[in-house]
Amino acid sequence: MTLDLVIRKARLSDGAAPVDIGVRDSRIAANAAQIASEAPMLDAEGGRILRGFADSHLHLDKACLLDRAANPDGTLGGAIAAVSAANGHIARVFAMAQGFGVDLDFHLDFDLDTRWRHLDEVARQTIAHGMQGRVTIGHGTKLSMLPPEARQETVALMRDADIALTVLPATDLFMTDRDHDHAVPRGVAPSHLCQAAGLGDESRAHDLRGTAAGLCRPASATPHAAFAQADTGR
Ligand SMILES: [Zn+2]
Repeated sequence: MTLDLVIRKARLSDGAAPVDIGVRDSRIAANAAQIASEAPMLDAEGGRILRGFADSHLHLDKACLLDRAANPDGTLGGAIAAVSAANGHIARVFAMAQGFGVDLDFHLDFDLDTRWRHLDEVARQTIAHGMQGRVTIGHGTKLSMLPPEARQETVALMRDADIALTVLPATDLFMTDRDHDHAVPRGVAPSHLCQAAGLGDESRAHDLRGTAAGLCRPASATPHAAFAQADTGR
């Protein structure tokens, strides 16, 4: 068998003795105690092989759109306005996802104001577009402030739409309460209650660069300056 790469002395998740792993066309093609091959070799030195990590929460405004959709005031509201202006409203985002045949990741209801929310509308549109199981919502901190009945209604809608909730305590514990000087709320989506209601959820560390930028940013700093601060630790 012709291989493109052999990873030698790699330990699998069963913790047994290290094995050689043969790769061909970017796929695992062989797995044995020893593989005879002239292919380029990577020595794992007994280290454990892990499957690829999946990060279910990525900020387009920081990772991909910063130069094209500027957020001059550096706030979440500014980011939403910048991205909304580029991408339109929720229905249009669904239409685009269907047009491109991709799944959707909304960063939604990332505040503690219970007077409005978009979680329900996204759940309704997920069902209307037949995209159950293909939509993730990150943050959803507003869920932590909803009275039980309203929360149950919203979570039931999200469950029916088979939406995954990505809970992000590393960011939300710090960023949702910045305008409170007393009775500070936790501002983290109640994942245990959502799970108990049948909602799939994941907890993520959040992108540290974005979190650190939010924490260290003085009011006068531009987003670029804040990210540079976060990168350099100063
Ligand atoms: Zn986020």
